[in-house]
Amino acid sequence: MTKILRMANKTKLFNDLVQDISKVAKAFAAAQMQAEAICIFTGDRELLECPDCGLLEDVSSDGHLMTYKKSDGTIEDTGLRFQEIDCMHFRCPTCKCIVELNDEESNRE
Ligand SMILES: [Zn+2]
Repeated sequence: MTKILRMANKTKLFNDLVQDISKVAKAFAAAQMQAEAICIFTGDRELLECPDCGLLEDVSSDGHLMTYKKSDGTIEDTGLRFQEIDCMHFRCPTCKCIVELNDEESNRE
């Protein structure tokens, strides 16, 4: 095989690989959006805890995001959810305190 043919073959293999990776990335993004739409926590950020009132986020055994207060002594979902202001800041639904994600643990943009 000539050098030019080998290079063309490698280029085709590389392009095929890029196309495959692109398809997987698109499928993953679609699955993540579907999971978020039904309130399944996808682990793309750390769980929140309000420093003022102690409301905590947690993930139930079936993968759904939930909140409870440590001080209540039970782990029953309050039904309340932190409101996303931007990718780093959330508003506590109980006391309206702004909670900031820890930079080091967050993998979001
Ligand atoms: Zn709070």
